[in-house]
Amino acid sequence: MTTNEPGSLYQPAGTPAGLESVRNLVNSALDILQEVSAARVGPVAPGGPAGARDAAARALTGPLLPEEGGDPATVLAELIRPYAEWAVDITHPAALARMQPPPTDVAATAELVAAVLNQSLHAWESGPFALELDRWLIARLAELVGYDPAEASGALTPGGSVSNLMAMTMARDTTLGERTGAHPFAGGLRPLAAQPVVLCPEGVHFSIERAVRLLGLGDEHLLTVPVDKNGRMIPEEADRILAELPDHQIAVALVAVAGSTDLGIVDPLPELAAIARRHGVWLHADAAYGAGALFSPRLRGMLDGLAEADSVTVDLHKFGWSPASSAVLLVRRAETLLSFGLQPTTCLSSDDDTCAGYIGLQNTNLQTTRRADALKIAVTLRTLGSRAMGAMVDTCHDLARHAAARIAAEPRMELGTEPPLTAVLFRYLPGGGLDTDAFNGALRRRTMEEGRALIARTHIAREGGGSSVFLKLMLLNPETTTGQLDAVLDELLELAAAMEAEALRAPTRETTARG
Ligand SMILES: *Cc1c(COP(=O)(O)O)cnc(C)c1O
Repeated sequence: MTTNEPGSLYQPAGTPAGLESVRNLVNSALDILQEVSAARVGPVAPGGPAGARDAAARALTGPLLPEEGGDPATVLAELIRPYAEWAVDITHPAALARMQPPPTDVAATAELVAAVLNQSLHAWESGPFALELDRWLIARLAELVGYDPAEASGALTPGGSVSNLMAMTMARDTTLGERTGAHPFAGGLRPLAAQPVVLCPEGVHFSIERAVRLLGLGDEHLLTVPVDKNGRMIPEEADRILAELPDHQIAVALVAVAGSTDLGIVDPLPELAAIARRHGVWLHADAAYGAGALFSPRLRGMLDGLAEADSVTVDLHKFGWSPASSAVLLVRRAETLLSFGLQPTTCLSSDDDTCAGYIGLQNTNLQTTRRADALKIAVTLRTLGSRAMGAMVDTCHDLARHAAARIAAEPRMELGTEPPLTAVLFRYLPGGGLDTDAFNGALRRRTMEEGRALIARTHIAREGGGSSVFLKLMLLNPETTTGQLDAVLDELLELAAAMEAEALRAPTRETTARG
């Protein structure tokens, strides 16, 4: 059998016959998802890591590349069913761990279209309309953060971590270029007279640390700016550090957090922008999570000054109801993206293609082949509209405040801080000399093992040094009701009380480290 015979196993999705086949396969896949969804009891199947491993061992039998392939509906069903059964149900009210919002139906459909048409953004001939859509979306998102779209630009990325890496790269190249006339493009960093450093607050996302490491700046050249009692960067301290830098160091970036991952803290952006400008340093605002506040008239004011940053990281796959990856790095000045350009993209008479408008985006992005993420983001935002988006953000914020008030009123629970956005930090306070950190870690693992709730965990710095384990609820599902949230907390309290009694009766290793 050759591949283009009828009945062949290769069925391209985009032909008339392929589209009909996709329609049928999608229907059968959706039947399976609906069946699995109806049978669910919690946000994840019970059994923990061992359960997931067993399920995988049962499902993943036979070779990856069998000698003879199989019927697509059967192959799909074999993997889709266990995948769905062991998927975290992010629509469940007790799925509260991670920044994964339940995405919209229209976004999921756009994803299917993007896969069927398989456009790419790197060259004009890889996706002409996809390119136009990408450029249009970036201009509109630039406006959303307050940039002038005539001067601004950006890049869709696989996520905030890559956006942050791109921002640090541009900060390094642009600042060094402007301040020293030297550029790391040709000679690398070694011939530079000064060592580049980056300033950031405590609690910056780890992807900034990783970016500094990947750029060869050295971990020790990420300088920590002290924060105030609310966790916000102290502008005077940033100013002092910049003013007192020794001659052999040159600051290339000041990183501000606009909605920290754990506490939702927003650094004082207008003050930091003024300081960065005075010292000739690139200001990067990491609003991967916090940018959701832009949709809410009530919360938008928290992000005043965002447009004064040279670059802004925005993840719409977090606080934006678009599926991953829906991420963008926005830059105030389009030309700074040329850190990623190896070929000229302006019309230089010699390049016929560029002059004639056959321009792709591989020179303004870290990626070459790049999927069309703009489609699902655009349909999500246009379907919801600003009024619904604002209401959804506010509802999530209200849910967080409801949970915080409830926790603050529970004698056996401690609230971290009032939630500025939608993350609520708390911990259970066990009695009987049980170690609070170990107890909360064990409590979280038990909820996952039993498939009852998914809650995150983090470490929060204590005054006077050290850190404590806190649990975290991330509220990004506006369909959740306060009653459902109360039920999750009730169940958690009940489980904690049972574990406490258990630990005090028959000490186990997990919960009895006393301290
Ligand atoms: C989530 C997050 C990131 C990383 O984004 P990804 O999309 O997960 O790569 C960076 N910064 C902040 C503040 C975040 O909350």
